[in-house]
Amino acid sequence: MYLLYLDDAGSVKSANETHFVLSGICVFERQVHYLTSGLDDLAKQICPQDHEQLEFHGSHMLPGKGFWRSIRDKDERRKHIRNALAECRKLRGTWALFGVVVEKAAISPEDPIEFAFEQICSRFDAFLKRQFRMGNKQRGLIILDKSTRETRLQALATEFGKSGHRYGILHSLADVPMFVDSAATRAIQFADLVSYALWQKFERGDDQFFNVIGDSFDAEGGVVHGLLHRKSPTVFCDCPYCLTRGGRLI
Ligand SMILES: [Zn+2]
Repeated sequence: MYLLYLDDAGSVKSANETHFVLSGICVFERQVHYLTSGLDDLAKQICPQDHEQLEFHGSHMLPGKGFWRSIRDKDERRKHIRNALAECRKLRGTWALFGVVVEKAAISPEDPIEFAFEQICSRFDAFLKRQFRMGNKQRGLIILDKSTRETRLQALATEFGKSGHRYGILHSLADVPMFVDSAATRAIQFADLVSYALWQKFERGDDQFFNVIGDSFDAEGGVVHGLLHRKSPTVFCDCPYCLTRGGRLI
């Protein structure tokens, strides 16, 4: 089974924020252990005395909240974010990142959360179908952080089980999306970092974290399917999604 761990970044209601991000990592069931071990080892190096309690959250690490406040050097905290993101590159076999970045004004009055959730589901479904065509018959499961700020996401996942969605992904999924506590799941913490990397790039113009993972979104034949950037047509963008589509909005 392929597991897609997701987390969000950005508030839909906040007028100060331009984007909403939903993203994460898809791993095969056996790979969860290796991703978890990699992040555990990193936690042991950073905080040997209390590594099990140490959580990787971009919005805590970069500004220096909680434990991260004790690391006074911001460049050091930045390095820890980059190192944590790089853990996915050690995985063997088939895995991929998935992400949807929505410029809220570009899809108004459509609901950015609903748009992002459907797009992620659709792209995960396409990945599973491609695996199926290659003889790898696996089902998928979507796992979300239960403390997501956007409760609308929880409602959507619940509705999903009752009615499916317009892309008909239900056939590819083993069950309805599940919610887990990020404190107990390193893979959800990794999804948090992926969303934070996208957030920093698209909202803040800082691509140092994105550069660690930018080439890891699901792709086939040089076309990136695992990343969607919905933006205003007049905005030029060099992200992998826009670049493989001539920089235009599709
Ligand atoms: Zn773009």
